[in-house]
Amino acid sequence: MRILLHFALLVAATISATAGSQERLPIIDMHLHSYDEANYFVAPDRYGKMSPPTADAHFEATYEIMRRHQIVLGVISNSASSEEAWLAKDKDKRFLRGFGSFGQDEWTPKSFDQLVKDGKIDVFGEIGAYYDGRTLADPYYEPYLKICEEFGIPVALHTGGGPPEITYRGAPKARLLLGNPLLIEDVLVKYPKLKIYLMHSGAIYYLEALRLMLSYPQVYTDLGVVLWVHPMPKYYGREFLLRAKEFGMLDRVMFGSDQMAWPHGIEMSLVQLESFDFLTQDEKRDILYNNAARFLRLSEEEIARHHGM
Ligand SMILES: [Zn+2]
Repeated sequence: MRILLHFALLVAATISATAGSQERLPIIDMHLHSYDEANYFVAPDRYGKMSPPTADAHFEATYEIMRRHQIVLGVISNSASSEEAWLAKDKDKRFLRGFGSFGQDEWTPKSFDQLVKDGKIDVFGEIGAYYDGRTLADPYYEPYLKICEEFGIPVALHTGGGPPEITYRGAPKARLLLGNPLLIEDVLVKYPKLKIYLMHSGAIYYLEALRLMLSYPQVYTDLGVVLWVHPMPKYYGREFLLRAKEFGMLDRVMFGSDQMAWPHGIEMSLVQLESFDFLTQDEKRDILYNNAARFLRLSEEEIARHHGM
């Protein structure tokens, strides 16, 4: 009993320490991934903590963390079947539907156009052009970008690198140079009204991300793996936020966790962001909710509903 009580106190202390003054305020996660049995994998994270044993357990853990931390909206992407499975289980209507780049051989501009017109796509991405050995400026993406610009569908582009050894394990065309956000400049020139965010804030190319944001005020970012996945991206994440503040661009930075197979990555990201003493509580609030609400053009009613959830 005493042990249980100690444990309960410890949990309570941890939760209040991590939540800080952001407690019970809504959060938007711009970067989540859905899984079903076909694409789920069980593996340890960089720190040795295992992912949940099944795709179902992984969904339950992700959803429970969203509820506990007031994550009222999350952009999900991955295979079409996993997105559909998650949307079917989304009792609280917390998910926005992305358009994952896995299995993209099945895409056609025509089928994408139809999905957009049917209201079935909220975000075009995560686009992992880097993993396919190209950039968003590749002509392959042109018809999709045209549709996104016309219908106001935000583009979510993976930037930076990938996991260790990924070029030897499943993504033979991936090259680190392709993750440089400056390589998409032609896209911004050709589609000036496109809504776009750089996932992972450029990671190793965080200064390039900021330079692009300076020239192109429509460009937003999410934090993705730079809050938790590995010490190196965590270094980029801290530097990115310091410089984004110094250069006056924090109002275009959005929270995202990129939890992948590790739902606890969401909480690690929240803890990391909260630990940054160089950010004010108002700046953290903007990153956690307000910037994404503006980017997604949420209605006043929806924002009010999120604050009452
Ligand atoms: Zn991702």
